[in-house]
Amino acid sequence: MRIAAFGIHHETNTFSTFQVDLQAFQSSGLQREGILRGDQIRALHGDTDTCFGGYFEAAGKYGFQLVPLLFAATDPAGTISSEAFESILGEALQMLADRGPWDGVILNQMGAAVTEEFPDMDGEVARRTRALIGPDIPLIMTLDLHANVSQQMADETDALFIYRTNPHLDARQLAVKACKILIQIINGEITPVSALEMPPMVIGIMKQDTSEEPMTQVIEAVVEAQDFPGIIDTSTGQGYPWSDVHECGTAFYALADGNPETARAAARFMAQRAWSLRHVLGADEGPTAAEAVAEALATPEGPVLLLDAGDNIGAGSAGDSTFILHEILKQGATSCLMTIRDTDAVAQGVTAGIDAEITLEVGGKQDSLHGTPIEVTGKVVTISDGKFEDPEPVHAGWRYFDGGITVVLQTTAGPTIVLVSTRVGNMSRQQYYSVGLDPEEFHIIVARGVVSPRPAFQPISKKMIVVNTAGATSAALSSFNYKRRRRPLYPFEPDAVYAHA
Ligand SMILES: [Zn+2]
Repeated sequence: MRIAAFGIHHETNTFSTFQVDLQAFQSSGLQREGILRGDQIRALHGDTDTCFGGYFEAAGKYGFQLVPLLFAATDPAGTISSEAFESILGEALQMLADRGPWDGVILNQMGAAVTEEFPDMDGEVARRTRALIGPDIPLIMTLDLHANVSQQMADETDALFIYRTNPHLDARQLAVKACKILIQIINGEITPVSALEMPPMVIGIMKQDTSEEPMTQVIEAVVEAQDFPGIIDTSTGQGYPWSDVHECGTAFYALADGNPETARAAARFMAQRAWSLRHVLGADEGPTAAEAVAEALATPEGPVLLLDAGDNIGAGSAGDSTFILHEILKQGATSCLMTIRDTDAVAQGVTAGIDAEITLEVGGKQDSLHGTPIEVTGKVVTISDGKFEDPEPVHAGWRYFDGGITVVLQTTAGPTIVLVSTRVGNMSRQQYYSVGLDPEEFHIIVARGVVSPRPAFQPISKKMIVVNTAGATSAALSSFNYKRRRRPLYPFEPDAVYAHA
């Protein structure tokens, strides 16, 4: 049995000003080459907990030949250029056409990608793949929990499978399950029919952790519905709020064996549970940077983890916000650790060299959303290539990271600033260990994200505060100028009505 797998993995923040072109895909903070082909995929994913890690595991476990074709993944950012999309997908489809025949095809997608031409890029990938392989070859897609799931994705595939945890620690496990069901489909043991239910609601970033209330109740409903008679599998796409597309929001997907009504009933059951919790799931409150830094300073024991909601790198922001740094300096906090993506500052540090003292402006340079540059004076203590590996559980199972040239600056005011070159997310403590720093020794750690930094930093933190900062990923969704989203949609339109509530 021969199964092909490929994917274009991107979470597109349509409010970000960084357009994702081919060059952006060629350099990625998430894997050391942005576009992997053939055996490169096994080399960089075989021993990871990503979906590809799971496909390889399943191939061994269930005895099929997995043929990895192409996997393009780059850091979340703005809209993907048509040129990049056509070039990457064109290459993948050419491989698919040349190397068949296939018994099945797997698409490894994130699920919230937007190109200049296609607001539903993932649906377009499925559509063109289906057009190439025809209606009879089973086609499945695995998705990140933040997918904005579309009807097109459901219609063009035999089955969709979505992570159930945020932070995403189940990608590999999900991929193994998906492969098992794919084989049942190929063998004709089941006849998959799906239903997609999209209640008009968005789950805000403050309430997305699946181990915390009320998201636990949403996932409980997904697990419960999976046991309904005739149901093969169930999922929710929690949704990615910063993609301004029609599908922006939360979706529920059920896969039944043969009976569409069974699938429909299960999808509605899950959607109804979430809809009843919409008032809590849509909440966006949280302390300001000033309040959060004051609370951290008043906390006797650290580290205190400050999660920068507005500069959430994993959701497509700049990685160089200065709002929290500004408060740290203003309030005189000294034992602080953070990264700032600033290639100019990195260059200045490299030119000055180890042990040199320099005065320079850091951060707030990428766009107008993340504060203004701040002048600091400090000593260059480390310069590295920015590559690091983390074999421990990491959000979405990533393992081989690339922060680009990295400079550690020990400021005279106190804070330790790690200047990085790529928008690699703060998802791993190895980012700091690899440059000789122990995050455990700092009183305040700033992480640019809300949920993805938790597997790495929650275990060493005495307290965690989600800071309601401004930025490209602000929790205050009403501050963005949406043009394409559905209307009405809760919480934007508080009177939104769900027809099947
Ligand atoms: Zn995600």
